Amino acid sequence: MDSTGDLADSRDPAFHDRMETLKRFRSADRGYWREVADSDWHSWRWQLQHRITTLKHLERLLPHLTPAERQGAELTSKKLAMAITPYFFNLINLNDEDCPIRRQVIPRVEETHTASWEVPDPCGEDSHSPVEGLVHRYPDRVLFLVTDRCAAYCRYCTRSRMVSNATGYDFHPRFDKQIEYIKQHPEVRDVLLSGGDPLLLSDRKLESLLSRLRDIPHLEFLRIGTRIPIFLPQRITPELCAMLRRYHPLFISVHANHPTELTVEVKEAMERLADAGVPLGNQSVLLQGINDDPAVMRALSHKLLMCRVKPYYVYQCDLIAGSSHLRSSVRRGLEVMESLRGHTTGYGVPQYVIDAPGGGGKVPVNPEYVLRRDNDRVLIRNFEGEVFEYPEDRNGIPQSIAGPSQKIEEPELV
Ligand SMILES: *Cc1c(COP(=O)(O)O)cnc(C)c1O
Ligand code: SF4
Repeated sequence: MDSTGDLADSRDPAFHDRMETLKRFRSADRGYWREVADSDWHSWRWQLQHRITTLKHLERLLPHLTPAERQGAELTSKKLAMAITPYFFNLINLNDEDCPIRRQVIPRVEETHTASWEVPDPCGEDSHSPVEGLVHRYPDRVLFLVTDRCAAYCRYCTRSRMVSNATGYDFHPRFDKQIEYIKQHPEVRDVLLSGGDPLLLSDRKLESLLSRLRDIPHLEFLRIGTRIPIFLPQRITPELCAMLRRYHPLFISVHANHPTELTVEVKEAMERLADAGVPLGNQSVLLQGINDDPAVMRALSHKLLMCRVKPYYVYQCDLIAGSSHLRSSVRRGLEVMESLRGHTTGYGVPQYVIDAPGGGGKVPVNPEYVLRRDNDRVLIRNFEGEVFEYPEDRNGIPQSIAGPSQKIEEPELV
């Protein structure tokens, strides 16, 4: 594939300048909350208590609310609720209707437009749930849903059927039952705590859950999926980090989609986690006009690495009801992936996956680098589009490559 056009690399001065701007670490300014005491602003409980959850509040802060946003905010009592922490709200560029932060957390009326292929539970989680709040989809690991609440709500949330409880899903996980199931299933060696956001639990509650899980001898590996380090970095206190480090091996997957989300505050929060020995990964969702762009995704990767976070997955946006306006195409996703591999640090290249609609699980999708397999060689191309041969036959036996005059059998596509 030709890698010109907007897949331009950093030798292009315009691309380079955009990257430099995107990569700057800023602090969230205090904006509307200038008068608030420092101790309040830096308190996670204060941030949670002062979230923006109503249209009235939103209108006061955002005078140029668009009609689509106003209508969207009116409907959130029936769909996914609205909540935005003051800290995160201040990352919004108020003069830009298409601000990538704004579009992730401010509802729009398009959320009520459901395409025929969109469904409430696109990944078939409920059908793989042996007890409430536990999804056992893969042989050796389970997804353990801890709560249905988050610090803020992402408008494309794959679990919007339950998260925030606006649709009356009434999620009441009984940790006893979930833990009992894991005890009875010795094949489970990996538990992924998610939700909702597990870091909304108090340190004490979270510690009690982690220690009960650690008491199960066959559990090797624990991880937490959370967007709190991004929405509410104040929550990553030294006390929380000191508690988490007692439950290693414990990994944390965070969720950042755009480089603007990686502020000075977030970087410091990640450093506290990393210093507590927690390996960090990031999961992003490919979002139309937000991060389906080579410069944005590369800047995100670079900033994540500077925060000691490895880009782990990029998800194709699930077919969740009312998310068409945020969904990018697989074709675009592949172009973005192609613009990363080889062009930047390998640690900075996440795996692009589609969570197969209907419950097939995560399926990796990759740009095609194996062009062809012949009887005596594998034809590959590199990130610059040059073609190379690797001498090996179809059974995996090394071969001396036939000269150009020798006939090669009809190519078979891989
Ligand atoms: C994503 C997911 C996991 C974890 O998958 P990994 O590829 O190991 O990160 C486990 N269970 C469910 C149901 C999931 O959706
Ligand atoms: S933080 Fe995660 S669970 Fe919560 S709304 Fe966002 S995507 Fe959904």
